[in-house]
Amino acid sequence: MIIMKFGGTSVKDAKSMQEAVNIVKKSNQKRVVLLSACSGITDKLLSLIKDAANPEAVFPSKAIDEIELHHNNLSSELFKNKIFVNYSAALIKRYCNELRKLAEGVRLLKECSPRSRDRAASFGELLSTTIFQFLCLENSLKPILIDARKVIKTNSDFCSAKVLVKQTRKNAINIIGKELGLSFNKRNSYEGNSGIAEIENKTQTDLIITQGFIASDLSNKTTTLGRGGSDWSAAILGSALNASEIQIYTDVDGVLSSDPKIIKNSKLIDKVSYEEIKELSFFGAKVVHPAAIFPALVKNIPVRIMNTFNEKSPGTLICYEDSANATKFKSIVLKKDCQLLNINFSSKANSQLYLQKFYKFFLRREVKVYFQSSSVSRITFLIEKNADINFLVEQMSCNKTLAELLNVDLLVVCANAILDCKKEDFQAIFEELLQKNENCHFIAFTDNSLLSAVAPIYSETVANKIHQKIFEK
Ligand code: ASP
Ligand code: MG
Repeated sequence: MIIMKFGGTSVKDAKSMQEAVNIVKKSNQKRVVLLSACSGITDKLLSLIKDAANPEAVFPSKAIDEIELHHNNLSSELFKNKIFVNYSAALIKRYCNELRKLAEGVRLLKECSPRSRDRAASFGELLSTTIFQFLCLENSLKPILIDARKVIKTNSDFCSAKVLVKQTRKNAINIIGKELGLSFNKRNSYEGNSGIAEIENKTQTDLIITQGFIASDLSNKTTTLGRGGSDWSAAILGSALNASEIQIYTDVDGVLSSDPKIIKNSKLIDKVSYEEIKELSFFGAKVVHPAAIFPALVKNIPVRIMNTFNEKSPGTLICYEDSANATKFKSIVLKKDCQLLNINFSSKANSQLYLQKFYKFFLRREVKVYFQSSSVSRITFLIEKNADINFLVEQMSCNKTLAELLNVDLLVVCANAILDCKKEDFQAIFEELLQKNENCHFIAFTDNSLLSAVAPIYSETVANKIHQKIFEK
């Protein structure tokens, strides 16, 4: 059994949705397909419900009509069979009427609670899966649409609810597992290889469709897992049902060796470890959120990132590091608009006593600290740019300390267990970083990356050269 999750861009219009269905159709495994809302719809829903709460703003009937029209257009463009157009129109109308009622309630109260926000946002996924189910039917598939709110149970932290794992697992097995004819042993593990499930349940379907992102609390109120939460839904269901693979379909080929907007010859990385994904997203690379795939990795279920629009690409596999793939540099991230803050201490001052103060300052202002190092006479912070730092610099420039602030770009080269990487790759990296003294202001290592603070005017050139030397040889 596999999980296939299609993100917002994979269901954004008729052509994309048809691509997605083609992919679903090609697989001959039992599958649970999770969908996001059509691209842009969640934003629209959240903004219209906010407007509904504001008595100064016009009541958002137009936005609701537009959402209804968007989905109706989608179905009339997709379906050849008039019956499906009519079925989906009726359901779209029902959902949009519910949305209108919700907006009217919010207008009356002049207040939009997180609970109402989640209810509003949920219509995006409810609408996209409604259409998708009919499209599957029209493509001779036999899908069963299951409301994710019946399966994924959370606490009542609306807008970023936490999953109740035990409850959810039980529901996944009892509801989805049953429909798919999966058999589980007492310890809840799916006996995937036994073949018993297939023989016992010939009448069951092999295709479940459900929503990503949405769930419900113990009193059945709609909750959501936070923006971009459908990857998390995929991992939760994959883990609960012991899927053999979780496939995340998106609009890029997978995880790349760098941002193609900065580095022309960025390459697809075929395999990446969980630790590396964590590191890459900490430094701002836009890949799946590691927290969202954690449930899968705990059960050692491989997660594959695939491109809906490029069948030929093999995608990127996220799994535990294997020795064949270790000790290789995987990617470069160039994080622009960072700052290097150096505080130099005179012999009278003890630098260590200041550390806590700095962290409190950054925490209060939500300044992300990428790296910090300290010695007796100097503390260095590599941070994201923030206007308040100038105030800190002024404060720290007194007789005992001297603070200096530099605008830099943060260049990160990632590899699992970096110190085991090849000497010649390190040589190439250092050659580029240190070619001109004024290029590079700081170099440091973490377990999985080499960090450097590079002058912004050189950073793209240096990043491209390092990429050439270690990824394009
Ligand atoms: N539709 C939701 C969002 O836009 C969830 C997702 O796409 O993952 O945040
Ligand atoms: Mg997403």
